[in-house]
Amino acid sequence: MIPQSKIDEIIDVARIEEVVGDYVSLKKRGANLLGLCPFHQEKTPSFTISPAKGIYKCFGCGKAGNSVNFIMEYEHLDYIPALKFIAEKYQIEWPELQISDEALAEEKRKQREKESLQIINNFAEQYFANILHADEEGTAIGLSYFEERGFRPEIIQKFKLGFAKDSWDHFTQTAIAAGYSQELLMKAGLIKQSEQGKIYDAYRGRVMFTIHALSGKPIAFAGRFLKPDPKSPKYVNSPETELYHKSNELYGLYFARNAISKSGYVYLVEGYTDVIQMHQAGVENVVASSGTSLTENQIRLIKRFTDNVCVLYDGDAAGIKASMRGIDMLLEAGLNVKVLLFPDGEDPDSFCKKQGPLGFSAYLDENKQDFIRFKTSLLSADAGSDPIKNAELIKDVVQSIAKVPDAFKRSGFIKETSIALKVEEQLLITEINRLLRNKLSQQANTTIPAPDDQPLNYEAEIKQLLDVQVHDHQEKDIVRLLLHFANLPMEGYRNVAHFILSEIAQDEIEIENPVVHEILNEIHKQLEAGEVDMQKLVNHMNPDISRFIAEMLSLHYEISPNWEHKFDILIDKLEDKYLEDIDSAMNRLKLKNTEKLIKLNKEEMLKAEQDGNIELITNCLKVHQHLMEQKSQLSTKPGTVIF
Ligand code: ZN
Repeated sequence: MIPQSKIDEIIDVARIEEVVGDYVSLKKRGANLLGLCPFHQEKTPSFTISPAKGIYKCFGCGKAGNSVNFIMEYEHLDYIPALKFIAEKYQIEWPELQISDEALAEEKRKQREKESLQIINNFAEQYFANILHADEEGTAIGLSYFEERGFRPEIIQKFKLGFAKDSWDHFTQTAIAAGYSQELLMKAGLIKQSEQGKIYDAYRGRVMFTIHALSGKPIAFAGRFLKPDPKSPKYVNSPETELYHKSNELYGLYFARNAISKSGYVYLVEGYTDVIQMHQAGVENVVASSGTSLTENQIRLIKRFTDNVCVLYDGDAAGIKASMRGIDMLLEAGLNVKVLLFPDGEDPDSFCKKQGPLGFSAYLDENKQDFIRFKTSLLSADAGSDPIKNAELIKDVVQSIAKVPDAFKRSGFIKETSIALKVEEQLLITEINRLLRNKLSQQANTTIPAPDDQPLNYEAEIKQLLDVQVHDHQEKDIVRLLLHFANLPMEGYRNVAHFILSEIAQDEIEIENPVVHEILNEIHKQLEAGEVDMQKLVNHMNPDISRFIAEMLSLHYEISPNWEHKFDILIDKLEDKYLEDIDSAMNRLKLKNTEKLIKLNKEEMLKAEQDGNIELITNCLKVHQHLMEQKSQLSTKPGTVIF
């Protein structure tokens, strides 16, 4: 654990304008600094630094945070590594961690093993490249293979392609002579032992692809066999090691990361050569899942860079259907998924070669289509006029739509699918509701009632239920008000913060957004110690909190496009009516909470009905009546807008 005082020291020394200034050229604008956003493409600057608040905010793409958030975002680092990165840059002493001797020893052993494996992989990468370029067999077989595929020399260099000689132990001998231990070479999967105990090269007569970590270091290899041989696998891959976890890596991400950030888009392909060929065609925002089906960790990795994925398919129908489950996972993660199909018999590699860079990029732009639309048209071509197949098709498409977490997107897809398949919208809604209800019931570990007679109301019910989970305007609004007015006077209370926290505690309002929850806890602590200093939260050691606060702090800018001029006026206006604002925000929060309680009570009532528990039913009815009264009181208060 890094102490908060250390974090404060680092952020204090590393001024936001200096940290960002190393990456972005900034110009002074009043009290702030302005530059071109490094996270999206723009011609007029909308990336703003507030040195006084210690935050940045882009009015183009919405990215916001403190200096640590900036380094996390720009260098693609986690929180602690980002802090360390800044500490090193500004020569701030990094604290030694206090952990138990045992854990420390194990951690050190793992670290040493990782470092050793890294050194061995560096050596192997260099060896395979040397063989490819300087060895007779390497150039005759390996290099000529890559050249036949149309790979240019600079691309072969960039991706560190290589070759392993078709020899029993040429690599083994070279590595051992260079002083590398047999045990670690074995762990790295570079050498193997036969049943007779003889040591031999794991990759023999194969062209070599290096798999790089996000840092660009070689962490694994894949060797492709060139001769068609039913006894040998086409690819041999590195085993799992301390350094390499297959399900956490995407091939090509190191080379693609900046292009993904700039374009806000990533192409997902299957093979190593697809990635390389597309780079050659100038499309650099591309990664491969390396033949395996997508994992949750890989999807999380993609989400760190972008929400927009386009999956490229070669024109093989069986392959497409097999990978549709992976796409459902992408949808479920909230990603926007497009797909693109290549003509029959073509894959990105072959198609790139045929079309050349310009034709290829144009094909990508013109032929991307939305996944749901793609799936619908693909399956309906399959089903023809067969009614049973058509029923299955509808179920199948509906299943994908139900995975989309965003209710608005879902309803768009429903409309579109209803037109494409000539099915009534209501039918699709009912089916999707059924799936969502099952999922929610599983999550909530309870049965959610299904009023069969009123499908339309039911949809609203489900929607509302989902809204409770995702909509937290009311909670965010409370944080916004605290940020601006926490220490201002409030009649009967120490200050505004004291009032808000007391109200929340008194009404037992459960805060659902975990970030808001933690922020309120912090404010509570500060309040007990004296004054509330919201600015302190900008440096909070939870990066989600600092990012959230930076967003909230820059919110009032967004109200006015000419914030430079209007900033002061706006604040005056806000302060003028802060009491009114706080009152209505608290009302909205209470209203939301009451609605939630009503829902929970209804569920309990339904269960009681099923169990025939008369006493409980009566009790629930009383609670219901009370809550409904409370709701109507809250709704009629002035300024309570119902979202
Ligand atoms: Zn931006």
